[in-house]
Order: sequence, then C-alpha cells, then structure tokens
Amino acid sequence: MNHWLKSALDLVFPRNCVHCGDAVEQSPCEFVCAPCAKAILPCLPPACKTCGYPFFGAVIGPKVCPHCIDLDPVFDHGKTLFIAKTAGRSLLHHLKYQRGFYVLKDLSRLVTTSRHYLDYIQNAILVPVPLHPTKLRERGFNQSEKIAQMLTEATAGSSQIEHLLIRRVYTQTQTRLNHAERHRNVKNAFALAPDTVLIPDKQYILVDDVFTTGSTLNACARVLRDAGATHLNVVTIGHG
Ligand SMILES: [Zn+2]
Ligand SMILES: [Zn+2]
Repeated sequence: MNHWLKSALDLVFPRNCVHCGDAVEQSPCEFVCAPCAKAILPCLPPACKTCGYPFFGAVIGPKVCPHCIDLDPVFDHGKTLFIAKTAGRSLLHHLKYQRGFYVLKDLSRLVTTSRHYLDYIQNAILVPVPLHPTKLRERGFNQSEKIAQMLTEATAGSSQIEHLLIRRVYTQTQTRLNHAERHRNVKNAFALAPDTVLIPDKQYILVDDVFTTGSTLNACARVLRDAGATHLNVVTIGHG
C-alpha cells in the first residue's frame, strides 16, 4: 500500500493501540501507541544464558537468573526479545488468542531493530514447538509457527523452518502449574516427526512464543538432542 493511501486510511480508520486502546499516532509501531511502545522492556544483554532474562545492574556470580535455577537445560543458550508485560504481553495475546496476525509486523520490526537478537537467529534451522493436532484444530494455527515464519523473513532467508517435532500428548493448559508439574506434564509429550534426519553440524533453534519455566522447550530439546542435534538453542518473543 502506498504511503498516501495509508495516511488517508489512518485518518478515516485510526488504528488503536492493542494495549491501551488509544489512537496510534507517530509511533514506531503500527498497533502500539508511542507511550506504550516506549514502555516495552527489551531483553538486552547482559542476560541469563538459558532464558534471555536481562540482568539489571552488575553481574556477579553464575550467569543464570532466578527463573532458571530449577531448570537443567538440555539446550545450549536461550534468547528472548522482551519481557511479556505491558504492551509486549498484549501483542502476544492478540496473536495467540485473537488471531491478530497483523501484530507480526510490529514484532518483526522489534526483531530487525534488535541487533543481538537478529544475529542470534541467522544461519539456523528454526524448529517451532508443535501443537497437538486437536489443539491445532481448535486454534486454527500454531503461534510458534507464525513466529518462526516471521523470524525467517527477518533473516532474509539465511534461516529456514523445519517441522522436526510432533506433539503426541494433548496436555492441559500449563498456566496454573508449578515448575515440577509442568515438567511432568510435558516430559513425554513430544517426539521426532516421521522420516526426520538431523545434521550434527547445523545450528538448530527451537521457537516458542513465551519462555515461562522452560519445561516445554526443554522437553523438545531432549528429543532433538537424542536425535543427534549438537548445536541447539532456543528463542522466544516474550519472557513470561
Ligand atoms: Zn497504548
Ligand atoms: Zn534464566
């Protein structure tokens, strides 16, 4: 759409902020107003090597954050784009629960302007965390796959998506479970997709929308490790 037409449409149908509902004007984002965009907390280095949560202030001692103390990561590193609060949370909610695929444009812009994040996802095979077929039918799409597609486009094709995993167990929603319960819940939930071969030299990166306890990503990582992945990272958009 050309710039003139877009401006004319904005006058007739002003876009509203997905977080506060105000009109979006002179914002770096298309669906987040300028004050809400400014309040998104990016996960900049120095950060936890497992989940990407930023260390605010001086870093002394082991580089693992309090969220990851109970996690024994099977993967090498993890990175997150922003803290899943404020407008960052609203962007992810619009994508996941309201089929708001338009927010991917704003997420893409946040990715391409975060050098450390963009460098991290280059020259890799991105593996979306799969949904169970029943859940996929209910939701109609896999948000991790949508995010992985956006990420490959952000790398201008240096990275590709491969659907290496399947979810064979329909797990209950994890939001109310603690770390140990989540771990049990997903432990054997994933398997390698049929006819899948992993190449040990390749960099594999598991993709999910949010890093919460890391249980789901760790369960996926276990399957890929067992199948021969030697370079294995994870990436998420939000830290929940
Ligand atoms: Zn706003
Ligand atoms: Zn961490």
